[in-house]
Amino acid sequence: MELKICHMYPDVLNLYGDRGNVMCMQKRLSWRGIENSVTRLPIGSNASLAGFDLVFIGGGQDFEQQVLLEDLHRGKDREILAAVADGLPFLTICGGYQMLGNYYETYDGVRCDFIGAVDLYTVGSKQRMIGNYKFRCGGESGGSLVVGFENHSGRTFLGEGVQPLGKVLAGFGNNGKDGTEGVRWRNVFGTYSHGPLLPKNPALCDHILLTALQRKYGKAELAPLDDAAELAAHDAMAAKIRDRV
Ligand code: GLN
Repeated sequence: MELKICHMYPDVLNLYGDRGNVMCMQKRLSWRGIENSVTRLPIGSNASLAGFDLVFIGGGQDFEQQVLLEDLHRGKDREILAAVADGLPFLTICGGYQMLGNYYETYDGVRCDFIGAVDLYTVGSKQRMIGNYKFRCGGESGGSLVVGFENHSGRTFLGEGVQPLGKVLAGFGNNGKDGTEGVRWRNVFGTYSHGPLLPKNPALCDHILLTALQRKYGKAELAPLDDAAELAAHDAMAAKIRDRV
């Protein structure tokens, strides 16, 4: 078995070491003897998404999100739209997650028209939503407890019938109001959780990898790994972040 991973906009969307998620996916595949590769698609690249099994997009500041708009609308937007409709798995973080939606209106009043691959929109607020947080994934996304770190001005609202990735247990999540976090649409996993999301949440990482493998091969299983260190990190953070009352 083999997974070909595409890292889109690694040059502009890579906050807090979001790239570590790609490294984590590669490691967890390699440890199981599953071949894998990562292809970077920076700004200006004309490469298509054909042949990839999974796409990763990290987060960015408002400025960087505006910088890549021109490049996005030169054809990558249509390519991503078609790939999402076709069920290609995506893991998108914060600014990358917002980019799959309809638009982002920043707090300064700049409107970024995005891809519209998922029915959601984002509006910037003065108060940034910052801190460690945790959420529980919905059953269709594996149901695991996820510990993460969020830092965003954008409040995201999901369209009717669009499921969140999970329910917030502590912190802000999509908008600090409706208790939702991220999105799960077809095989898109979107989240506000930055940095080492996957290293310290191995169950979510494996769920995403399995989604990609099953789509490609029809049937696939992942052998268990010794996750003692990962789970110790996960549990330590989970204990520190108090449940929302
Ligand atoms: N610039 C966006 C916001 O503030 C995304 C931030 C991010 O990717 N951390 O909402």
